[in-house]
Amino acid sequence: MARYKESVCRLCRREGQKLLLKGIRCNTSKCAFERRAYPPGQHGQRRPKVTDYGTQLRAKQRVKRTYGVLEKPFRAYFAEAERQRGITGENLLMRMELRLDNVVYRLGLAASRAEARQLVRHNHFLVNGKRVSIPSIKLRSGDQIEVKESSRNKKPFQLVLENGVPSHHAIPSWLESDIGKLCGTLTRLPVRDDVPDEFKEQLIVELYSK
Ligand code: SF4
Repeated sequence: MARYKESVCRLCRREGQKLLLKGIRCNTSKCAFERRAYPPGQHGQRRPKVTDYGTQLRAKQRVKRTYGVLEKPFRAYFAEAERQRGITGENLLMRMELRLDNVVYRLGLAASRAEARQLVRHNHFLVNGKRVSIPSIKLRSGDQIEVKESSRNKKPFQLVLENGVPSHHAIPSWLESDIGKLCGTLTRLPVRDDVPDEFKEQLIVELYSK
């Protein structure tokens, strides 16, 4: 399976904002974006004129990189969003939110989406009592997510039990988390207001509609 293998901190610097891709480190003084808040590379500190295309591209890359999705599956999500009723850009964001790895992260059961993805792939989670190892599966309202009994003594989960959810990690209102039992429920489908404002999904629609 294809995946991004370079430094993820470069992605935050390129997008001009903290994408929180490294978990605990992101909220410490070691964060690369805190120290060098300009694009990576030799010409990173220049300020080139940004075209409309450039703005749309950055809007798309920001969403893709935040959720850790590569171009081909992201296109497929967009096509799915277009086929659905409603506003395409919002459908796209809701689909990203409903990925299992994102929900595990949002519930506070993993420090980052990347860690959540790895934990799901390693078979540590049950959805409605069934073992699931595909990070991209789409969850539905009422789904229950829990850490497998036999996985609860693994280090990442022991850390979660010891430290709880970090104070900077807000659990969204569409999820109910029970950290003590390492489980959570998707109580309702997310809406646009549940997703960070900085995403400009309309620009992604404009980009892909060319
Ligand atoms: Fe981004 Fe986290 Fe790296 Fe900071 S530490 S640059 S927020 S991935």
